[in-house]
Amino acid sequence: MKTSIAIIGAGIAGITLARATSPAADVTIFEKSRGLGGRMANRRREGFAFDHGAQYFTARSPAFRSVAEGAVEAGNAGIWPNAVHTLTADGLVNDSRPPEPRYIGLPSMSGLANGLADGLQIRKEATVAALKRAEDGWSLTDSEGQDLGRFDLVISTAPAPQTSRLMPEAFSGREALASVRISGCFTLMIGLNGPLDLGFEAARIEAPVLSWIAVEASKPGRSGRTALTIHSRNDWAEANLERDRSEVQAEMLQSLKQLLGRDFSTAAWIDLHRWRYANVEKPVGQSFLFDAALGLGACGDWCLGNRVEAAVESATALSERLMTRLQGA
Ligand SMILES: Cc1cc2nc3c(=O)[nH]c(=O)nc-3n(C[C@H](O)[C@H](O)[C@H](O)COP(=O)(O)OP(=O)(O)OC[C@H]3O[C@@H](n4cnc5c(N)ncnc54)[C@H](O)[C@@H]3O)c2cc1C
Repeated sequence: MKTSIAIIGAGIAGITLARATSPAADVTIFEKSRGLGGRMANRRREGFAFDHGAQYFTARSPAFRSVAEGAVEAGNAGIWPNAVHTLTADGLVNDSRPPEPRYIGLPSMSGLANGLADGLQIRKEATVAALKRAEDGWSLTDSEGQDLGRFDLVISTAPAPQTSRLMPEAFSGREALASVRISGCFTLMIGLNGPLDLGFEAARIEAPVLSWIAVEASKPGRSGRTALTIHSRNDWAEANLERDRSEVQAEMLQSLKQLLGRDFSTAAWIDLHRWRYANVEKPVGQSFLFDAALGLGACGDWCLGNRVEAAVESATALSERLMTRLQGA
């Protein structure tokens, strides 16, 4: 009988790990959300579409470059933005850094994960709330106490603080999990009636509150109405995480007005998302955590860095470790 593996999370790390280990094991992914992709997220409301998590990804390793190019060929990814500007109180300047392909998912950011998930066994809207030692493995239960099954190995790809809450005291990676720092972020989503030309597709913002703005319509393959996605600075988000959402939204709109000279406070659609765990400030510094004796492991961007590619690299390294074990079994 094949080894059974439960993977917690259908972000890019969970999907990468499941694809690599499925040929040798019976793999099930549990994902608490309705959709795939984790922080490579998108939201659709009233005909507006926003990629409200990761904005684009780069692929520096040959292995991930070939995954990204494969996704482009399959129509699950595209290239965007052509240029990133910098927006400050003094105005706008174009990015002068050498071009490096920047990729996005198609038709939305989660397109990469959706394409790679083809053929995988995924249970959506299934939050893993507890792991209990069972004979030769682990029993998983959801937030209502319902049984999710028994597995030989369990791997969590949830952000480190959430993984830490799931893992038992005896897990050898506990100290490493506790060393990770992930900061929050607020994302403001603005939908407009009619077209808008700001003179850029995307811009890094150098200002006290905001850090990034993207014009959704400038992306390939998007069919939604005119929409802007704006990220706060991480340090500002951390200082304001528990503040009243309407105050956070008002301060972000005010900051945008100062930068662009436009008031969006009466836009057709305004929404705010709070990311409790958005960007990795301090990673573990090792590719993955694996306790071979307990049959528990963890991987994700927080092992190696703050990028989609770090998540892929971490999951790939753990999959290689697991394949050695599975093939020796
Ligand atoms: C606002 C923002 C902007 C970003 N910008 C960029 C960027 O421009 N470029 C870039 O490369 N990276 C960017 N990132 C980072 C990038 O999104 C991440 O590095 C990457 O998506 C992490 O993938 P992952 O699979 O490790 O984790 P995640 O995508 O977080 O996946 C973890 C999954 O686990 C699920 N989960 C958690 N707990 C449970 C549970 N108990 N049971 C079941 N499922 C569970 C979650 O729902 C999620 O789907 C950004 C992130 C944010 C939030």
